Amino acid sequence: MPYIQFLGAAGTVTGSKHLINTTYDSSGQQGFQVLIDCGLFQGQKEWRERNWQDIPMPAREIDAVVLTHAHLDHCGWIPRLVKEGFCGPIYATQATIDLCSVVLPDSGHLQEEDAAFHNKKGTSKHSPALPLYTLEEAQNCLQYFKPVAVGQAVQLSGELSFRFVPAAHILGSCMAEITLTTNGQSRRLLFTGDIGRVHDSDGAPGKVIYSGPQEGETADLLVMESTYGNRLHPHTDPRPQLASLIRDTTKRGGSVIVPAFAVERTQKFLFILKEMMESGEISRIPVYCDSPMAIKAVEIYLNHSEEYTPPAAELIRKYGSPLEWPGFTFAETAEESKKINDSNFPSIIISSSGMATGGRILHHLAQRLPDPKNLVIFIGFQAPGTRGAIIKDHATKAPAAEVKIFGQMIPIRAQVAALEQFSDHADPPELLEWLRTFKNKPGVTYLVHGEPAAASQLRDTMKKELGWNVQVAEYRERVDVK
Ligand SMILES: [Zn+2]
Repeated sequence: MPYIQFLGAAGTVTGSKHLINTTYDSSGQQGFQVLIDCGLFQGQKEWRERNWQDIPMPAREIDAVVLTHAHLDHCGWIPRLVKEGFCGPIYATQATIDLCSVVLPDSGHLQEEDAAFHNKKGTSKHSPALPLYTLEEAQNCLQYFKPVAVGQAVQLSGELSFRFVPAAHILGSCMAEITLTTNGQSRRLLFTGDIGRVHDSDGAPGKVIYSGPQEGETADLLVMESTYGNRLHPHTDPRPQLASLIRDTTKRGGSVIVPAFAVERTQKFLFILKEMMESGEISRIPVYCDSPMAIKAVEIYLNHSEEYTPPAAELIRKYGSPLEWPGFTFAETAEESKKINDSNFPSIIISSSGMATGGRILHHLAQRLPDPKNLVIFIGFQAPGTRGAIIKDHATKAPAAEVKIFGQMIPIRAQVAALEQFSDHADPPELLEWLRTFKNKPGVTYLVHGEPAAASQLRDTMKKELGWNVQVAEYRERVDVK
């Protein structure tokens, strides 16, 4: 009997990897094996170590990969899969492929840097410490990507076909609708990947891509994410609060520092700033976007206008490319980045990494955190234990006097604020709203991509509100597709 095996994002939010195995085809031959997503485990060490474990079957026996979107926890293990012998097609939308061509080599570069750091410090139990994959290996895997248009049917084998439908999570993101036909019986399997906000409401302003996952789905078996299974997004408009924080900082002569992921979150924030400046809510102070990857991501966004929300399309129609907006400076080189340090006038500096775990944001934080005139705003999730979480908790939970950056203790005297409205994941009321548009009740739903508490709470909510058969997937669990 065909089965699905959960090889990641089960019991945690990262490492998405779900295998469909048709077992045997109608002629008795070894069946077809396809991976839906092939992501990196991130976060705590116990999870990251799984990036070094083999998957249960030789990589060369996997026939294809279907990729929902370009976040590393969904695509970041592809270079490793290729390194281990996979050489089949990797199907994704063109926008996802464009983003992967930036994100994966960058990930390879970081893996190499990490290994070099451990070798220098002697902090690895392996000698020498090796990268999971290199920049070159990441570039090499790009040759296997095959673009698929949204809605286009692709026949994977005699028994399996799929098409992408919009997920509204980030640029290029899609769900995979799989049709599996064995012994004359056809079933629809829906893998959601990550699901975006259901409405482009005031609670999710500045969204750059279209709003809402595709409605009216049918599925016999549903594999769904549960990242926000036990949390609600604030549904207030963050703009008035954001504008007042920026105005107060400007008034006292300080600058605003924004740690943000280079892909999606930075673009969203730039659009909001532009909107607020044009409407006069904030004054036209200089904006610095200090991330080479963010520049590439903006270019990719400009090439995919088909996915814009109407307000984003209108802003670009009126004001052109963000790369050419007056007063907005994009720093590509290290010299351009250093120049920002010399700016003593109020300005807004957006840089990555989003959780302040590395990257150019560290220089800006080290320079601006000790001055109470400045403001640091968090607009994204901060994983426990990261530098971002330490600084954010300073404002919201446990005041910390200082934080370690480049081996030095830096006093936290700047104002720190956090806005929670910018999430790109639907919360439970939004998920239910979407699920209620289904034309049928799936025979079974497996929840993945959630911490255990989030997944189990969403399971209970779905059982109670919808009366569906819902289970929380376990790591390496195999389930039959009946
Ligand atoms: Zn994602």
